[in-house]
Amino acid sequence: MNTKKKIIVLGAGISGLTAAYLLKKEGFSVTVLEKKENAGGSIETIIENGFLFDRGPSSSLETYPVIKTIIEDLDLSEELIYADKKGNKRYILKNNELIPLPMSPRAFLSSKLFSAKAKLRLLTEPFIKRANKEESIAEFVKRRIGKEFLDYAISPFVSGVYAGDPSKLSIKYAFPKLHKLEREYGSLILGTIRTIRKRKKSAEKSKQSAKMFSFKNGMETLPNKIALFLDNNLITSTEVQSILKKDNSYNIVFYKDGEQKTLFADSVVSTIPAYALSNIIANTDKDFAKILNDVFYPSVLVLYIGYKKSDVHRSLDGFGFLIPQKEEKSFLGAIWNSVLFPYRTDNDNVCFTLFIGGATKERISGTTTGAPIKKAISEFQQIMNIKNVPVYTSYKLWKKAIPQYNIGYEKVDKAIKQFESNNPGFFLGGNYRRGIALGDCLHSAEIIRDEVKKYFTL
Ligand SMILES: Cc1cc2nc3c(=O)[nH]c(=O)nc-3n(C[C@H](O)[C@H](O)[C@H](O)COP(=O)(O)OP(=O)(O)OC[C@H]3O[C@@H](n4cnc5c(N)ncnc54)[C@H](O)[C@@H]3O)c2cc1C
Repeated sequence: MNTKKKIIVLGAGISGLTAAYLLKKEGFSVTVLEKKENAGGSIETIIENGFLFDRGPSSSLETYPVIKTIIEDLDLSEELIYADKKGNKRYILKNNELIPLPMSPRAFLSSKLFSAKAKLRLLTEPFIKRANKEESIAEFVKRRIGKEFLDYAISPFVSGVYAGDPSKLSIKYAFPKLHKLEREYGSLILGTIRTIRKRKKSAEKSKQSAKMFSFKNGMETLPNKIALFLDNNLITSTEVQSILKKDNSYNIVFYKDGEQKTLFADSVVSTIPAYALSNIIANTDKDFAKILNDVFYPSVLVLYIGYKKSDVHRSLDGFGFLIPQKEEKSFLGAIWNSVLFPYRTDNDNVCFTLFIGGATKERISGTTTGAPIKKAISEFQQIMNIKNVPVYTSYKLWKKAIPQYNIGYEKVDKAIKQFESNNPGFFLGGNYRRGIALGDCLHSAEIIRDEVKKYFTL
């Protein structure tokens, strides 16, 4: 293999950084072009007034072996921290009360979260037939396990992961493992039992059993360390404008320091958001550009609040809570950061992250943040029995936060594959393909590394 081949990676979020890291380790000549001043994309950490605020992801699950391998290779093991065991307990808000999500069959039978009728309905699940059309998460869950589970378990979980709308997200693409259980085993219950047995033999972990981790100095530790490794191979404050195909190579056109420049590439790896790639290829592949531009990214406002510990009059013994849409609150849920991880603040204070917005709420713009923040704080204080005002608040508005794998995503999936086949050596990654969780992004970068290697070997 000729490892002198030049590869340009678009975007220095975790997907682009990981792809570049893995390709550089293979000996390729890699250059990453990033629009913003810093690497990390959605991963941002600020430390201010004694509070550590992760403005994007605040933790990740150790779902794929590549995660641990990269952390060890980068000498980050000492920085790694695992979530406290208390984090296994998660609450759901029902009638203004925080009710623990049952984690064992026994807890499930005695839980107030679901009615006796809903619990009995579950017994019929193995006998329900497979669907014969593409379904939304809401349709799938209602059909298989009933509406109560949709309302008080799955919908809040969907808003916790995607800030998404279960009546629009595609079960096949947003939760492929759940969809596969029905396809392969004809039942979620029987399929879960069988896959647990199977998984024991492989290194892959399910999202329920994978360990949750962060870093002492926040999630930014990982992209910052990869950026250090990439050194001169990473060029920031550089917005890619267009890509010109020439035989089986590419010229990447971008602006740097007010000047238009061009770089040659034998291969291109794009990890920028779908709408950003859409702009870049708008003149060369109009149809694909339209499909990419239609991928919906709702806005999410991440609100971080710190209180004196003595002002919180309820036990802090869990991950936090999620709010079903039926409860009609102004925010989606809250993470109890200082319960999960040490070093988030000092011993006298506690801190929380609230999520406002998402696909089921109106888009939040830069000028409309004041009212929703005030309302969310007031509702949060009531739920948590907090009598005093916060000692610290900060927020970040992500105008286009998380891509939604909505019904019809199959068209996007097919178009991506078609584009790659029309443009040999051009690979697409990023969180609008193969999953949005950090673990999925790292795994996807590993797949791209293998595809690039194969491309140059053939
Ligand atoms: C608020 C929030 C909370 C989240 N919480 C979690 C969590 O707790 N756990 C979890 O696992 N996941 C979480 N996620 C999801 C996860 O963080 C993202 O899916 C992941 O970080 C996306 O990485 P990426 O590299 O694919 O994309 P991005 O991080 O979006 O990176 C894309 C990069 O491309 C750059 N770019 C765009 N246009 C151009 C251009 N023309 N030229 C050059 N560069 C360009 C951008 O500036 C950006 O840096 C969260 C996401 C958000 C937004």
